[in-house]
Amino acid sequence: MEQLRSKKGFICDMDGVIYHGNKILPGVTEFVEWLYRENKNFIFLTNSSQLTPAEYKQKLERMGIEVDSGRFYTSALATAAFIRSQNPRASAYVIGAGGLMNALYDAGITTNDKNPDYVVVGETDSYNYEKIVKAVTLVNNGAKLIGTNTDITGPMEFGLVPACRSLISPIEVASGKKAYFVGKPNPLIMRTALRMLGVHSEEAAIVGDRMDSDIIAGIETGLDTCLVLSGVTSMEMLRDFPYAPRVVANNVGEIAYGNGD
Ligand SMILES: [Mg+2]
Repeated sequence: MEQLRSKKGFICDMDGVIYHGNKILPGVTEFVEWLYRENKNFIFLTNSSQLTPAEYKQKLERMGIEVDSGRFYTSALATAAFIRSQNPRASAYVIGAGGLMNALYDAGITTNDKNPDYVVVGETDSYNYEKIVKAVTLVNNGAKLIGTNTDITGPMEFGLVPACRSLISPIEVASGKKAYFVGKPNPLIMRTALRMLGVHSEEAAIVGDRMDSDIIAGIETGLDTCLVLSGVTSMEMLRDFPYAPRVVANNVGEIAYGNGD
């Protein structure tokens, strides 16, 4: 734990680490106070593509936590940066929420439902059959299929809801084309997160609640890894994975207080 606490930079997942739905998790206030007090570089990195950084700032504000919007990086921003790097004049048909729409717009990617270069899928409440049909047609006509992240489900207060991987899967099956996914654990998003932190990988740690995105991304990028049990992973589930986090904590408060294993 002391080795983790001595890192200069922290990449923190949000869902299951900072909050669950709209509920702040235990120890978060103390953890964020500790990050500021110890002058740590930190950013919040989420695979969700629904909200913009400004909306995340507001969401945390409502929970009593002050963090400026420059400290948030989402799979929507990473997806927009990826597409722009591939083709700065790209157009896209988008199934996604405001966070994704805004990120693509800011990156200069135009929307197009006739002959787009890309079909881009993220999480959204306005998902429907018509959009799946449109997406399948466009992919069959040559549009490249991109998913913002590989999460199958997302945690809500009442239970699990389908996330990007589940929503894009009918399009993959019907078109016979495999999507490319940008969010964690893709090194693309991890490298940008490290650049934002301004530290080298060996001086940074990732704190997350998912083994198959947060922890594996940390291991493969050479970061210190801390799994918190406040989200989707329990101690028993650790056995099912061929890799392990270096530190396990019940919640992020234990990082601030310096206890835990
Ligand atoms: Mg999470």
